[in-house]
Amino acid sequence: MSKRDYYEVLEVTKTVTEVELKKAYRKKAIKYHPDKNPGDKEAEEKFKEAAEAYEVLSDPQKRARYDQFGHAGVGGAAGGGFDGGGMNMEDIFSHFGDIFGGAFGGGGFGGFSSRPKQAQGSNLRIRLSLSLSEIVNGVEKTVKVKRLKLAEGATSKNCPTCQGSGQSRRVMNTPFGQMQTQTVCSTCGGTGKVADHIPPGANNQGLIKVEEEVSIKIPAGVKEGIQLQVRNKGNDAPFGGVPGDLIVVIDEIEDEELKREGDNLHYELYVSVPEAVLGTKKEIPTVTGKVKISVEPGTQSGKILRLKGKGLPQMQGYGHGDLFIHVNVWTPNPSKLNKEQKEFFESMLNNEQFHPKPTKNDKTFFEKIKEMFS
Ligand SMILES: [Zn+2]
Repeated sequence: MSKRDYYEVLEVTKTVTEVELKKAYRKKAIKYHPDKNPGDKEAEEKFKEAAEAYEVLSDPQKRARYDQFGHAGVGGAAGGGFDGGGMNMEDIFSHFGDIFGGAFGGGGFGGFSSRPKQAQGSNLRIRLSLSLSEIVNGVEKTVKVKRLKLAEGATSKNCPTCQGSGQSRRVMNTPFGQMQTQTVCSTCGGTGKVADHIPPGANNQGLIKVEEEVSIKIPAGVKEGIQLQVRNKGNDAPFGGVPGDLIVVIDEIEDEELKREGDNLHYELYVSVPEAVLGTKKEIPTVTGKVKISVEPGTQSGKILRLKGKGLPQMQGYGHGDLFIHVNVWTPNPSKLNKEQKEFFESMLNNEQFHPKPTKNDKTFFEKIKEMFS
């Protein structure tokens, strides 16, 4: 199932302001709220979808990444290792509860407000090195991850401090009379549970370090430094909460021949003096295999040839960059020339045809670059 555009989900434009965004989300959240639509799975999905869209668009950094890279840029890439399911209900209420304000009668959210909050495992972060061809084609990688897992036989019991509610209540005497305050229970951190039996080797939260293989689907066109999020593959939460996420940071292995610049690639081609004079055909490596190109007779050093569409795919799949071939004429090492060859060049020293006579067509490097991108 492909994910819907976040702006579409909230029915807002790309230029939506923070205030309008909040309003739009509030409208959707109230419409699809589970208290209003009991047992309606479709409404629940819509409720989650709206929350996920708001989570991304309300965060300026995430929004910028989403605008540039779409779902892949914020970790919600489609398919495979990425769980498109997004946030769970507990997340939504703990993140955005304040937005609904009084919409559901004073104290927040019906059945949800009084429940202990679900424990959340911590996120893990790994770096993943990819070759240029893996970046071009997209790749599925299996990595070994050391994560904290709930140990077998680890059990929990209700927190004795809060009796499992996750909240501690305190009555204070103030000049305005008695006030009851409710805070997160410090013994259990609000989860309502504490360790009962801890198997040997596990920490005091019942977690034990294990090495697990995780399969990660990398979309084509990723860049150095991009972070992908694999849902629920981080550390387990103590005693049955939601596991954290695995954050995968992309490292790009520099290619020996093709240098990357955004979606474009650059290749340095060397031709000999006779090849430059007489013309030749050369094989050029590209991301989709080798191609043959013609170097015209009389090609000057510094000429740039452009292979359209032979660069990298853009992450969202619209179009490709180009491959630029920089032609360099290779000057032979004079100490390696034999007598005859040396004499040839000496005899050409005063030859009219060997004198540089650049015309307007022999543009400087910067003029050529300017022309290409205009
Ligand atoms: Zn407690």
